Amino acid sequence: MTACRLEIISVSGGYGAAKIVHDVSFVAEPSSISVLIGGNGAGKTTIMRIVTGLLPPEAGDIRLDGESIRGMRSSERVERGLVLVPEGRLVFPQMSVQENLRLGAYARRARAASRVTMDRVFAMFPRLAERRRQLAGTLSGGEQQMLAIGRGLMALPRVMLLDEPTLGLAPLAASHVFDTVTHLKSEGLTILMAEQDVARSLAMADRAYVVEHGRIVLSGDGASLANDPRVREAYIGYA
Ligand code: ATP
Repeated sequence: MTACRLEIISVSGGYGAAKIVHDVSFVAEPSSISVLIGGNGAGKTTIMRIVTGLLPPEAGDIRLDGESIRGMRSSERVERGLVLVPEGRLVFPQMSVQENLRLGAYARRARAASRVTMDRVFAMFPRLAERRRQLAGTLSGGEQQMLAIGRGLMALPRVMLLDEPTLGLAPLAASHVFDTVTHLKSEGLTILMAEQDVARSLAMADRAYVVEHGRIVLSGDGASLANDPRVREAYIGYA
């Protein structure tokens, strides 16, 4: 599976009369980590929803390897390898780890490979392998996040979107998530991540974008944004 380039071109959108995202453009390069940072309600989730097709944009275009996916349903986007790991993990608590993973392989392309992919996910997350028959609702927060990522991997992504994957996790579990994301990049995935842990996500970002009031107000590579006094003051807590 080849890495994929995701382009967001002058996208605007929102919920009915509530215009949330204004003329947002950015690129997630193949096999790189792009991070969206910004305060609560800045519009990061809304951007993710527009990219994955859960919310139609009012204007602009979204391209995967140069091809517009704007008119495609979410399921078609998944078929092409664009996969969201949503905020809040959203695993099915009354289903086992294994059943949750199986649900991730609903795309036609992924279904045929699901047995092999599940073995890969278990090799990546041995704790999930040990708990494969356990109900997802009984997992720790960190394990549930691994399961949510594992379920995303079952769809055979080329681009993975992760919305606040470390929210509410203990520091060690959060580190495991960041290590996993770095590993997925090394395997060739293109990553777009919204994160509230600004310092740590900028440390691993190839490219980062600051979202305020639904607009991108600053962008750069992770290191330069981490050293930008405006970012340090507003999001890291010291200038
Ligand atoms: P957070 O870190 O809190 O998740 P965010 O940057 O992801 O923040 P969004 O969830 O995209 O922000 O929310 C942006 C704005 O859109 C907020 O003002 C929010 O109230 C509004 N919003 C989100 N979902 C809806 C909805 N379904 N209907 C109307 N407004 C919404």
